[in-house]
Amino acid sequence: MNLLVTGGAGFIGSNFIIYMLNKFPKYKIVNLDLLTYAGNLENLKAVEKHPNYEFVKGNICNRELVEYLFSKYEFQGVIHFAAESHVDNSIKNPSAFVETNVLGTFTVLDVARNTWLDKQNEVKEKYKNARFHHISTDEVYGTLGEGGYFTEDSPYAPNSPYSASKAASDMLVRSYYHTYGLNVVTTNCSNNFGPNQHDEKLIPTIIRKALAFESIPIYGEGLNVRDWLFVEDHCRAIDLVFHDGKSGETYLIGADNERTNLDLVNEICEILDEKLQLKLKEKEMNSFKQLITFVDDRPGHDFRYAIDFSKINLELGFTVSSSKENLSKLIGQIITRTYSLRLN
Ligand code: NAD
Repeated sequence: MNLLVTGGAGFIGSNFIIYMLNKFPKYKIVNLDLLTYAGNLENLKAVEKHPNYEFVKGNICNRELVEYLFSKYEFQGVIHFAAESHVDNSIKNPSAFVETNVLGTFTVLDVARNTWLDKQNEVKEKYKNARFHHISTDEVYGTLGEGGYFTEDSPYAPNSPYSASKAASDMLVRSYYHTYGLNVVTTNCSNNFGPNQHDEKLIPTIIRKALAFESIPIYGEGLNVRDWLFVEDHCRAIDLVFHDGKSGETYLIGADNERTNLDLVNEICEILDEKLQLKLKEKEMNSFKQLITFVDDRPGHDFRYAIDFSKINLELGFTVSSSKENLSKLIGQIITRTYSLRLN
């Protein structure tokens, strides 16, 4: 089976390509990625020579290129990650988000329709199992108060240009199922953490600043709550939905791992305190927590996201792994890379 993965040089896409080539070495994966500031081919070093992996540098908004790739590889599936993904950047430069997240999604979706369908609700025999899997975020549902959870039935209420552009792309994907009968699935997941995440995101920023003994910036009072999902768990969930999810359906992916940003930064500092006692002593410090500083809150900052993921759990058997172990392992890897020394 030939699969198109868009945005595969980014954080989640690169983890997903490595996961898939390990699990399904016979699938051919073509990675279409523009290599914006967020994409990095170093993330794919482990598979760059894999006989069933191919990289194409290009823009998902370039219809001619996308059509060429569909006709050359006759894709049986698309897993669509490519997006502008950082909320702070969407506040400064929303147009790039509309361009890539809305127009880019439309382009790939529409080329899939033209390639896979003869006409409305008539799939070409050759593409009878071909599926478009759209990767989205829980941020499309807006914000929660202290209680409650997002479910697949929650109303859309995006609050940032990023989440609004993702919401728009979700709607396009939905409409292609209802209007044309295109085989689509959408997954909306919570905040991910894990290897290959860009430095600009919260967990890498905390670790990077701590290792440089610089102040660790936390928005507002650090009370915003996120449900942190390990990226490999996310990859397993995508695999389940791509292969066995019901066409036209949305699946929410969460981790049952809610924390305030303050809890999270404290936990990371405690792991660092344990692993780097000598470094702390050298700096005459007791704890990395001494580096935490509070900065002005982000405008429109959603208070809490939390996900009820019982649908994917009950229908497809999705469960999560231990967040504490994953976080500790990740921090160990970053320390090793940063200081080029192996601890433990
Ligand atoms: P990322 O920013 O790390 O990677 C995005 C990738 O897309 C990069 O490699 C970039 O070069 C590529 N790209 C950007 N514009 C492109 C274009 N016009 N054409 C081709 N490639 C382009 O993002 P990520 O964190 O890996 O997120 C991947 C997807 O998952 C996104 O759709 C995002 O909305 C969604 N998501 C992410 C999270 C998270 O916590 N990171 C949570 C929920 C959903």
